[in-house]
Amino acid sequence: MNRKIFIGTDSGATTTKFCAVWDNGEIVTHKVLQRSTSSENGRAAVIQAWIAGVGEFLAQNNLQWEQVAGVGLSIPGPYERYGVFSKTPNLPASFAGWDVYTDYKNALEKQVGHAMPLIVGNDGNFGGVAEAQIARGKTRTTVAMLMPGSGLGCAFVDANGLPLDGDTLAGLETGHAAAPVHLLGLTGKPFSCGCGRDWGCYEAYTTLSGLPQLLVEKLKNYPDHELAKSPATPKEKAFSLRTRAQQGDPLAVEIFDFQARVMGLLVANLSMTLDAGIMVIGGGLMDTEVTTDAFRERYLRIIRETAKPYLWPPQRDTIKIIPAVLGELSQAIGAALVAMYQSKK
Ligand SMILES: [Zn+2]
Repeated sequence: MNRKIFIGTDSGATTTKFCAVWDNGEIVTHKVLQRSTSSENGRAAVIQAWIAGVGEFLAQNNLQWEQVAGVGLSIPGPYERYGVFSKTPNLPASFAGWDVYTDYKNALEKQVGHAMPLIVGNDGNFGGVAEAQIARGKTRTTVAMLMPGSGLGCAFVDANGLPLDGDTLAGLETGHAAAPVHLLGLTGKPFSCGCGRDWGCYEAYTTLSGLPQLLVEKLKNYPDHELAKSPATPKEKAFSLRTRAQQGDPLAVEIFDFQARVMGLLVANLSMTLDAGIMVIGGGLMDTEVTTDAFRERYLRIIRETAKPYLWPPQRDTIKIIPAVLGELSQAIGAALVAMYQSKK
């Protein structure tokens, strides 16, 4: 008999990624299939695109629909309730209130002609599930993941491999907790954050979205820097910093060192709450295709050094702070893994 598989569908606004795991959690292929989400054509078109994408993924890997024992769907939050979109940035306004769980489940069941288990969850949390499975190996170590990109994705994965979702599905939105940046010499008005909170969110000090504000702050010490006089937009200037830092530009290096220190404080904060044995750091700063080994090592070293004095003594000796390895695959794989874990409950 053909082996069972669990499908992961990771839907973003523009593209959806498809992958699968075997019934022991092994990844079927690291070659991700990526197709347009078709969100501009409405709800029915999206569902049709997902079913077609799963079919194409199966065909490419010589798999059959009859092998599919469950499906996971990874979607951006926030949600009205389980499987129902709330007003979500980057998705059409008409998607608010859409019960994507019911519509996808019905379409899958129509396709296979019998019941099909479906789980739906937060994309960042599912990314954490996949990275956690690799980071912890055969142990039951708990894992927190921090993924600074345009925003700051956070996840906590428990000893059973499942993410902390929270009662309103907003668990581990730690990027929007207050960062104690006064410890790093930054006083004055807290940076603003896209979420609207005024207490100086971690996200504002650790991600691309907050970089323009950090650049203004740090340029005070570099009045003659090229970027102090450049006519480029704040966003363009922010985008140039990662390359500049890797070329040794002292201003850019100082900016990422600062971001790493704030991440270190966040690691320490999370350790007081979660006591996770492993912290996985992902996102664009850990991308091996666009950053040098030296850049990534420096960033991780500063995180470790900053966190250490704030940890409890047993944590200091045992905590592992390591880079993510799956990149853009993680959320689709995590969705498939959660579908598999739930099938065994
Ligand atoms: Zn915020």
